[in-house]
Amino acid sequence: MPEIGLGTWDYHGGVKPLRAGFERGALFVDTAESYGSEPVVGEAIRGRRNEIFLATKVSPEHFHRRDIQKAADEGLRRLRTDYIDLYQLHQPNSGVPIAETLGAIEDLVEAGKVRFIGVSNFSLAQIKQAQQASRKHPIAANQVRYSVVDRTIEGGLLQYCQANHVSIIAYSPLSRGLSRTLDCDPEGVLAEVARAKGKTIAQVALNWCLCKEGVFVIPKGNSVAHVIENCGASGWRLDPVHIRMIDEKIKFNRRSGVQMLLRQLVPHSMSGIALRVIQRLPRRLRRRFS
Ligand code: NAP
Repeated sequence: MPEIGLGTWDYHGGVKPLRAGFERGALFVDTAESYGSEPVVGEAIRGRRNEIFLATKVSPEHFHRRDIQKAADEGLRRLRTDYIDLYQLHQPNSGVPIAETLGAIEDLVEAGKVRFIGVSNFSLAQIKQAQQASRKHPIAANQVRYSVVDRTIEGGLLQYCQANHVSIIAYSPLSRGLSRTLDCDPEGVLAEVARAKGKTIAQVALNWCLCKEGVFVIPKGNSVAHVIENCGASGWRLDPVHIRMIDEKIKFNRRSGVQMLLRQLVPHSMSGIALRVIQRLPRRLRRRFS
């Protein structure tokens, strides 16, 4: 799997940015049945399907055995392909036994419709439970939020996944927009490192994630320029001294178990509204609420 993938949540850039990413080696694209971007991804990968690592997600309301087959077939149709490289459970659903969900996905693997099984937003306890339930095919990846400003997974999940060969796919690696990253960088350390390495701030922020073993990033860019810039985060590494500077100087957040639970309970539409309100606050308050 290439270390940089192309995120497509809230994506409205058409096929061009995705194809520009493929041209620059980001032969990995992430979508989900709930994003509405599967059709454009299907269009973008047409003609080079076998080169692309295609990841999509099934929504938690489709975790019952009877619904998964249908959701996968509809995804394949929208993506105009006959297999998915990585099929991810979008987020935990305690209302459906995990063994039922994973059993149904294992059937999809055996039918050749799915190559690897992934999960997303799973905590340490939840991934251990999923690993126990999925005996025939391992859990290959956990897609979770990770960036210079949100280091929640460093509380144990990252280390566990590294030790157990579960790849981490870091979502929102640019914290949903550079301004939010810069809000947490009062001393301008990212700009300083970017100058020293001859890279941009976005490239430094992405490369910081890639410096962690087993971590992949999927920034979303709606423009060709953003995608090309993000692809430039691959193929090199920050120096240890720069990693230390970022580790020490950025005011990062590490969410507690209660905050994580609340996030899973709050509907996406409400968190979107909250986010827009926060973005209108002065920088210091923004940092606190983010
Ligand atoms: P992100 O990639 O951290 O940030 C996207 C934002 O950054 C957009 O506003 C984008 O602007 C901007 N941007 C991109 N490249 C830039 C650059 N080089 N310089 C300055 N700004 C730049 O946030 P995300 O979309 O939340 O996360 C990425 C992907 O992760 C999603 O698209 C999705 O595939 C996945 N994801 C998964 C989950 C999950 O629950 N599994 C949750 C969230 C996200 P433009 O749009 O104008 O280019």
